Amino acid sequence: MRSDGSVRRTVAFMNQKGGVGKTTSAVNLAAAWANQGVRTLVVDLDPQGHATLALGVEVAPGDGAEAVLLGGEASAIARSGGLDVLGADTDLAAAEHELAHAEGRHHRLRDWLVAAGDRYDVVVIDCPPSLGLLTLNGLAAADEVIIPMHAHFLALQGVGKLLETVTAVAGRVNPGLIVRGVMFCAHEEQSRHSREVVNDLVSFFEASRETDSVWAGAEVLRPAIRRNIKLAECPSFGQTVFEYDATCAGAADYSALAAALLTRWLEADQPPAAERDAGAELEAKPEATVRAES
Ligand code: ADP
Ligand code: MG
Repeated sequence: MRSDGSVRRTVAFMNQKGGVGKTTSAVNLAAAWANQGVRTLVVDLDPQGHATLALGVEVAPGDGAEAVLLGGEASAIARSGGLDVLGADTDLAAAEHELAHAEGRHHRLRDWLVAAGDRYDVVVIDCPPSLGLLTLNGLAAADEVIIPMHAHFLALQGVGKLLETVTAVAGRVNPGLIVRGVMFCAHEEQSRHSREVVNDLVSFFEASRETDSVWAGAEVLRPAIRRNIKLAECPSFGQTVFEYDATCAGAADYSALAAALLTRWLEADQPPAAERDAGAELEAKPEATVRAES
């Protein structure tokens, strides 16, 4: 937390499976934060450029995430709605290839974000559905990982593999990295199967609390994002769900989840209760008393 009380987080949306809601979540949570006055940057690390398209911006040739990875001059696009976008297009795939043996290749995005300094409160990274250098750059730059997924049994099996990957990356390039949690996308609450998958994951995270794993503090994030056709429609207009239909269920779910995450971050940034109480006690006593005790 900064001295003015605002949060500072870089969050990677990651899952090596495609079609699980990474881009939809990155874009719409970012828009929700921007709506709440949080200075937010979306980083598109997927050569498919879906986040860039969904936000209706166009990246200039050689600019955006590609320029960041290749160490060139890169600029983020200031978009209406208070959002900035570091965009991507298919050229990003070539950049990943070119970077394969370069010095400091894992830290290009992190270095760029450090240079961007205090300009953003929250940086949202949309990772591609693979575990190559692009995702590694995302994980090296991130404070936290959020795993979007569908509540299906087979998807649950993939979570173990993902957690292993985050652990390996944390060990190699980013020791502070943690998993914030799993969010369920296109969720069908009525289905018994979905409820079972959610409960399994809740139990798994509960059982991990006392471990020293990177997911010891992870949780099933709520609310889940309900299946809502508006979320699938809005990218074709280059609009976030809030611009397309601010009253739909998708807008309500993303807005509520964005607020819940901000609250979590503010809580996590508070000093532990014991420290806080000790501080309050000291402040309450007249100076002379404190000196006499010391
Ligand atoms: P990923 O980035 O993981 O590949 P996307 O965010 O692109 O996944 O989502 C995959 C598809 O599912 C997209 O067509 C998207 O519009 C759609 N989609 C995502 N979330 C929802 C939802 N909650 N309800 C309906 N469709 C959704
Ligand atoms: Mg995507």
